[in-house]
Amino acid sequence: MIDFATIEKKWQERWYKAKLYEAKKNGKKFFIHFAYPGISGYLHVGHMRGFAYSDIIARYKRMKGYNVCFPAGFHASGLPAVSLAKKVERKDEGILNYLRQNGCPEDVIKKLSDPLEVVKYFSRVYVNEYWKRFGFFIDYTRLMDTISPGYKKFIQWQFYKLKEKGLLTQKPHYAPFCPNCGPVAVDKSETDISEGGDAEILEFTVIKFDFDGYILPAATLRPETIFGVTNMWVNPDVEYAIVKVGNEKWIISKEGAKKISNQIEGVEIIDSISGKELVGKKCVVPLVGREVPILPASFADPNVATGIVMSVPAHAPYDYIALKDIKADIEPIVIIEVEGYKIPAKEIVEKMGIKSQKEEEALEDATQKLYKEEFHKGILNENCMEYAGIKISEIKDAVKDDLIAKGNATIMREFSKKVVCRCGESVIIKIVPDQWFIRYSDEELTEMSKEHVESMNIFPAEYKEELPKVLDWFGDRACIRKGKWLGTEFPFKKNWIIEPISDSTLYPAYYIISKYVNEGELDAKEMDNEFFDYVFLGKGKAKNSLWEKIRNDFLYWYPVDVNLGGKEHKTVHFPVFIMNHVAIMEWKHWPKGIFVNWWITQKSGEKISKSKGGAEPIPNAAMKYGVDTMRLYYAHIASPFADIEWDDEAVEQYKKRLYKIYELQEELLKRKGGKKDIDAWLKASFNEEVRKTREAMEKYELRRAANSIYFDIYNKFQWYIKRGGENASLIKNLLKKWICMMAPFTPHIAEEIWEKMGGDGFVSNALFPEEEEIDKDALDKEALLMKTIDDISEIIKVTKIKPSRIYIYTSPRWKWEVAKKSHELHKEGKLDMSTLMKEMMKDEEMKKHSNIPKYAQKLIKEIKKGGKHPHIDEFEYIDNAKDFISQEFNAQVFVYKGDDDAPDPGKRKELAEPLRPAIYVE
Ligand SMILES: [Zn+2]
Repeated sequence: MIDFATIEKKWQERWYKAKLYEAKKNGKKFFIHFAYPGISGYLHVGHMRGFAYSDIIARYKRMKGYNVCFPAGFHASGLPAVSLAKKVERKDEGILNYLRQNGCPEDVIKKLSDPLEVVKYFSRVYVNEYWKRFGFFIDYTRLMDTISPGYKKFIQWQFYKLKEKGLLTQKPHYAPFCPNCGPVAVDKSETDISEGGDAEILEFTVIKFDFDGYILPAATLRPETIFGVTNMWVNPDVEYAIVKVGNEKWIISKEGAKKISNQIEGVEIIDSISGKELVGKKCVVPLVGREVPILPASFADPNVATGIVMSVPAHAPYDYIALKDIKADIEPIVIIEVEGYKIPAKEIVEKMGIKSQKEEEALEDATQKLYKEEFHKGILNENCMEYAGIKISEIKDAVKDDLIAKGNATIMREFSKKVVCRCGESVIIKIVPDQWFIRYSDEELTEMSKEHVESMNIFPAEYKEELPKVLDWFGDRACIRKGKWLGTEFPFKKNWIIEPISDSTLYPAYYIISKYVNEGELDAKEMDNEFFDYVFLGKGKAKNSLWEKIRNDFLYWYPVDVNLGGKEHKTVHFPVFIMNHVAIMEWKHWPKGIFVNWWITQKSGEKISKSKGGAEPIPNAAMKYGVDTMRLYYAHIASPFADIEWDDEAVEQYKKRLYKIYELQEELLKRKGGKKDIDAWLKASFNEEVRKTREAMEKYELRRAANSIYFDIYNKFQWYIKRGGENASLIKNLLKKWICMMAPFTPHIAEEIWEKMGGDGFVSNALFPEEEEIDKDALDKEALLMKTIDDISEIIKVTKIKPSRIYIYTSPRWKWEVAKKSHELHKEGKLDMSTLMKEMMKDEEMKKHSNIPKYAQKLIKEIKKGGKHPHIDEFEYIDNAKDFISQEFNAQVFVYKGDDDAPDPGKRKELAEPLRPAIYVE
């Protein structure tokens, strides 16, 4: 029916040949970009959602008369391309299959063991197979990546600026580290890792229990409970390591030993000892000096912290139940007084009916519940020495600090959940003693950024409310790493590379420059700090006319109007995008807008992944559905601010919708008639949809706009045809506007129909329609008719009569008079029963109608609730539509005025009111 592929190819060729996408400078401007994708492999249909939004908005703005700059680039920094290349190099079957399935030619695969080739290849794929394939008006003259020499100069300049402003600092850092790849970033954007982006770093206090000259290091998140320790837990089935830590000898799980060796200097494994050997012996609780037994517990997990656990049975449900399980003769030591409890863990376990260690879920519940109560209401008791009387909520780090100061404890860091590097290795935490940070904690910078956010256009509104909190929370960020990374060398420490989040903050500014680099006018050698100072900050002098030209470009295009990105950027990229602009750029160049889009997920609510559907290569999906179908699907299936499940069936529905619209347009163009009454309605209701669409588009409510364009307008034209509309010139006029409205969403089909209709040039270059004055009466009259038809259908449905005659009574004149007067009085604020009756009785004619008081009373109530003034000639309109109604129901139709001396078999006439005809069917 519609040959999507042919139409797409045809129009893309024409657009790109005419360079419609190229941003031109004159008049008002609009700068939109999406967060550039990391080069991590092929993208999937989910990624196209945000890209499609950007293009729809960019095309809309063009059609509103803006000069739109819509550039794009590739975030090549960091680990992804390197790890892909490594996998190719070691001929990893998984990666080779993946490349082949996505259509990567064999000769290219061979080259992909070089990360630079990976970047080159995928940049081409993104442009040709995704962006151009979807008809995006990205300004392809500005493409750039983050590892080009010019971009690197640009990043170095930024770090000079940050240093000048005192926003760089050095301090020890416990950083996520992959044993294969080196340091990695753990954040929700999951640039470096494949699992665990939302893991937090937990700080365990490792308390050193003396054990016969050795240390038993028990890790805890609640060091204040040390006063209640009655015993230690070790796992009898675990072979523990004996480790030299400074001049101490620790007994710790092997996994724990590996972890602390990355966090504490001078750790060395010297021997091992089985958990069994420890059981039954005794150790000494520091601070308290109490001797306690070492007991066996299978829940002492060697993978969690040190694998040695201290037991506080009065307050830890696990400990209490474990002691009961082994029938140990140990009395809990209560150290926290909480209202309603004597021995809290014992009582909560009994209350919840927990019988054994195996009821892990219930135990976890009990632990959480008790912790909450103790935290909010608990006070340390006399067993806690100098801490007696302190509230748990106020104790904070006091006990921990005391333990550390006395040499009885140290800190160990661990992820709250498993984190896996892109290479497949588990990520650990490792100390970097002199790490460089960007000081995002800077108070002035944070305050200024928060203030600026208030003036920004941020979609959705909830994110605008959230952002100040995110900015407050956003701490110093470790900004460099040592390793084989793609990226820019840090200017203040040799061989260290700036990490990917820190090299992607100000980058939209580089799109101004990339054009000149791509066209060969500007060389990276020329881009020194002086150049960037001049171009971006207006400092110093232009060395040549090109510098001036670029400066002017920058002044014209900047600031960014919309930066669009997925929700994974909410706590990662967007905050640094704002803060770095605020830190470095002049006030007038700070960003104006952010648009966050949610994800396309699998049925399970996860991100789309290779293993489950919806992950077919994008070009295949484009072929299967047509790109206009997919663009419409993205725009209309849901609000941008909600995750959606990819659903082939739903996409098919949009394809059908486009077919239907295409057919309807062909049908409409066949009409060659003249004017009819229904024309006024079509014009008015069409213009109402134009108004709604524009209103929605101004707020980037793409779903609402698409609903008007692809559903409501469609229905209106259908109704128009049904009502016998055939006005060729009106149809042509409105069709053209309709096609213009479709152009941002489904541009290929829009161009195709536009051409068929003999439209001027490209519809992509046309202006977006403006609404004309809307004839409200025309809308109201047709609405009345539609309602009447609905009412008749309803009656038929309820009475199950197959009608041969339909009687329609419109309101009698006296009711109109009452209504008219009531509304007049209401307007003057004088509407009440006695005033209204007095007014009505002035008219002799009215005195004949004894029902006026009853009707007036009802009407007054309705008007006070907001009832509207009836104002159209309903009888005439419905009477004119008699034939239409007759055809609809295949019955004879009689239309009477309520005043008429008319047959009234069902005694319905009485019920007729203005705009509410009474109906009888027989
Ligand atoms: Zn790794």
